[in-house]
Amino acid sequence: MRAIPDNYRPILTADQIENRIQEMAVEISRDLMGESPVFVGVLKGAFIFLADLVRAMSVPVEIDFAQISSYGDETQSSGRIKVMKDITTPIAGRHIVVVEDIIDTGRTLHHYLNELKQRGPASVRLAALINKPERQEYTPEVDYLGFTIPHGFLVGYGLDHAGMWRDLPGVYEVINA
Ligand code: 5GP
Ligand code: MG
Repeated sequence: MRAIPDNYRPILTADQIENRIQEMAVEISRDLMGESPVFVGVLKGAFIFLADLVRAMSVPVEIDFAQISSYGDETQSSGRIKVMKDITTPIAGRHIVVVEDIIDTGRTLHHYLNELKQRGPASVRLAALINKPERQEYTPEVDYLGFTIPHGFLVGYGLDHAGMWRDLPGVYEVINA
């Protein structure tokens, strides 16, 4: 393991994350018993969470990915998002679990969940590892939530800092980000 920068403050350990994901998977599996849901991972940040979550599930799952960018975060208050990569799985009549790393303003999910709902799925659920309520503009209903972390710029376990450090097993806050 590489040395961790001095300004990274530990927030969640790998063990804490693993234990919580096991609990979440039990709950999701119970809710979707007898079904074969489609898990939609939101790239890039959710790839590690998705990988751990689906391997803890006890129902068979199909997996797809979407990549969404919110443009003009600071300059544009319209909060438009762009779907850079959409899922290719037809989801009409299917149970969907959207898997997201972290919810900040809520903008990304607000728009993408609405888009998915228009395709006639049987249900759309949301699983998020972290909810960060401080800057929330939209409050998507999170069906399965790992942790609430009030604020801060977080890195690790899929979350990047300028494109790097997604591979850290735990979650850290970047001090003076
Ligand atoms: P939202 O649309 O909810 O404002 O933003 C969601 C996306 O912004 C997340 O999926 C994530 O990719 C990114 N993001 C939000 N907060 C953080 C954070 O603390 N650290 C990192 N690395 N990315 C974040
Ligand atoms: Mg994301």
